[in-house]
Amino acid sequence: MQDFELLRDEHISELNTQALYYRHRTGCELVSLINDDENKVFGITFRTPPSDSTGIAHILEHAVLCGSRKYPVKEPFVELVKGSLNTFLNAFTYPDKTCYPIASTNLRDFYNLIDVYLDAVFYPRITPEVLQQEGWHYELTDTADSLSYSGVVFNEMKGAYSDPERVLAEHAQHSIFPDNTYGVDSGGNPRHIPDLTFEQFKRFHADYYHPANARVFFYGDDNPEQRLTLLEEYLGDYQPHAVDSAVGPQRRFAAPQRLDYPYAVDGAEGDEPKAFVALNWLLADDIDIDERRALQILDYALIGTPGSPLRKALIDSGLGEDLTGSGIEADLAQLCFGIGLKGVAAADVYKVEALVLQLLGDLAAGGIERGMVDAALHTAEFRLRENNTGAYPRGLVLMLRLLTDWLHDRDPFAPLRFEASFAALKQQLAADGRHMEGLIQRHLLDNAHRTTVVLRPDADLAARQEREEEARLAAVRAEMGPAELDGLVAATAALKRLQERPDDPADLAKLPRLELGDLEREIKSIPIEAAQVAEVPVLHHDLFTNGIAYLDIGFDLRVLPQELLPYIPLFGRSLLEMGTRRESFVELQQRIGAQTGGVWTQSLLSSRRDGGPAATWLFLRGKAMVDRVDELTRIARDVLLEGRVDDRARFLQMALEE
Ligand SMILES: [Zn+2]
Repeated sequence: MQDFELLRDEHISELNTQALYYRHRTGCELVSLINDDENKVFGITFRTPPSDSTGIAHILEHAVLCGSRKYPVKEPFVELVKGSLNTFLNAFTYPDKTCYPIASTNLRDFYNLIDVYLDAVFYPRITPEVLQQEGWHYELTDTADSLSYSGVVFNEMKGAYSDPERVLAEHAQHSIFPDNTYGVDSGGNPRHIPDLTFEQFKRFHADYYHPANARVFFYGDDNPEQRLTLLEEYLGDYQPHAVDSAVGPQRRFAAPQRLDYPYAVDGAEGDEPKAFVALNWLLADDIDIDERRALQILDYALIGTPGSPLRKALIDSGLGEDLTGSGIEADLAQLCFGIGLKGVAAADVYKVEALVLQLLGDLAAGGIERGMVDAALHTAEFRLRENNTGAYPRGLVLMLRLLTDWLHDRDPFAPLRFEASFAALKQQLAADGRHMEGLIQRHLLDNAHRTTVVLRPDADLAARQEREEEARLAAVRAEMGPAELDGLVAATAALKRLQERPDDPADLAKLPRLELGDLEREIKSIPIEAAQVAEVPVLHHDLFTNGIAYLDIGFDLRVLPQELLPYIPLFGRSLLEMGTRRESFVELQQRIGAQTGGVWTQSLLSSRRDGGPAATWLFLRGKAMVDRVDELTRIARDVLLEGRVDDRARFLQMALEE
C-alpha cells in the first residue's frame, strides 16, 4: 500500500508480537501489532488538548457517537451493541487525548465496529442540536418561567463536581500545570460549559479530528494487510494538514506553592466533615524510559502495599483516614507524583505536609528497606510478564500504555519492551545500594516544583454556587425580548421532539449486523479435571498461562450467621494484613511481594442455578511462577494456620479505609 510508509518493523519478544509502525501520506500514524491473540483491538486516538474548561473535548466525544454520514441514527452504538459480539466498545476523554477503542474476537464483528467508528469520528453529524443535547442549552418551557441549563455533559459534570476526590484530583493537576492544557478541565467545569459556542465546537472537530492528528492502533490475529485497506477507505479522502496540537511545556517553579479550595458538604451530615490534603510534584523534564520504570517501582515500594513505608507511616500517624493522590502519574506529557491524606482535621492540614516531607527525608537519608525494593521489583516484573488485564482486552491496555509516549511524539515501542529496563535497574541497584534513595532526593526533595493543595469543607458552597448560576441565568433572561423568549420555548420543545422521534427503520437497517453464519459453531470450554485430596475436592484447569500457576482455596461460609456476612471482606484483609505468628505484617507483605505475583482474598455470594441455598464462599487466591509454587503454598499455609487477627489498632485503620 504505497500511501503508507513503513517506518519500523520489529519483533517485541516480551509480547511475542511483530510491531509495525507506519505513516500515511496524510500524516496519520499507525501502529500495527501482529500476534495470535484472537481478542482483536482497534483504536483511533486524536490529540485534543483543550484551551479552556468548557468541556469541548468531552462534549465532542459524546457528539461523535450521535450518528454519522453512513449511519444517520440517533445512537448508533446503542443499536450496534444489540447485534455485536464486542468484548469492548467505549470512548474516553483524557486531559490531552480522546480515544475510540473497540475489541472483538469475531472478525466480521471487528470489521463492522471499525467501520462504524471511523465513520463516526471523521463524519459525525455535528449540528447545533447535537451540541445542545450533549453539551448544554437553555431550557424554557413557558415564557413566565426562569431559565435553566441542561445537557448531558453539563449534568454529568455537575455530578462529578460534587465528588470531593475528583475535585481534589482536578485542582492537584491544575496546580502543577498552570501554564499549559493540563491547567484546564478537559471534562468541563459546569461554570464554563455554557461559554462553549457552536462555531468553536465545529472548529475543534475540523482541526483535531483530522488524519494528520490521528494515531491508529491495531492488535491481534486479523490480516495485517487488510488493516491498511480498511483505513485507506477513510484516509483516502483527506489531504495533509498542519495541526498544532502538541502539549506545551510547563515553566518550572522557583518555590513550592500552597493552594486552598473549598468543597461542598451537606450541612446535615452527622460527623464533623474533614479536609483533604495532597502534595503534588512535577518530576524532572528529562526522564528516560529506564528511569520512569525505576520511579514506578519506587512508587510501589513507598505506597503500593499496606506495609510500604510511606503509606504505613501516614496511616499510622492517625492524622487522616486514608491516602489520597495517585502516586506516580504517567498518563500526561510529563511525570507527576501525588500523595496525601483524606479525613484530616482542619488544624492538622500542614502537619500532613510536614510529615510527608520528613518521611521522604528520612527514607532518603536512612535508606528504604532492601526487602521492600526487592518485593516491588519482583511484583512489577511479574505483572508485566503476566500481562493480566482482567476484564480489559490485552490489546487495549497495550494501546493505552503505548500512547503515553506515542502521543507526545516519542518512541511508541519503548513502553512495550521491559526486559532491558529491568536488567539495567537490577545492575544499578547492585552497583549502587542507594539508587532508589537518590531518586527520592532528586525528584522529590530537591525539586521546588511542588504544590500542597488543601480542600476544606464548606457547608454554604453549594448554595452560593446555585445563587451564582441563578444570577447568571437571570441576567441572560433580562437581556431577552419577548420574541427571543418565545423562540427559546419553541427551541426547547423542538429539541424534545427531536429526541423523542424514533429513528427511520431504513436508517437503522444501514447498521451492520452479524448473521447466524458469522458465529462460531463450537463453544469454547475450559478443561476441568476433578480429584479428591484428603476429602477435599480439587479442581485442576490445564491451560496455557505463560508459566504462571494460579491457586484458589475456597471456604464454604454457609455456617456463618447472616448478620456477619458484610464483614467477610474485612476479615479477608485481616488475614493478610496483620502478619503471622512468626512475622510482622510488613515482613509477610514483603515475602508475598518477593515470592509471588500476589496473594489476596475474595468473597463470593451468589444464588445458584439449581435454586438451592445461596453460595457463600471466601477464597484465598494467589499466583506465582511455576518454580515458586512451593513458596506460594507455604504462604497460604502460614496465613491460614498461623495468621494473627488480633491487632486492634491495625483493624481500626482498615475499618476506616473501607
Ligand atoms: Zn461523558
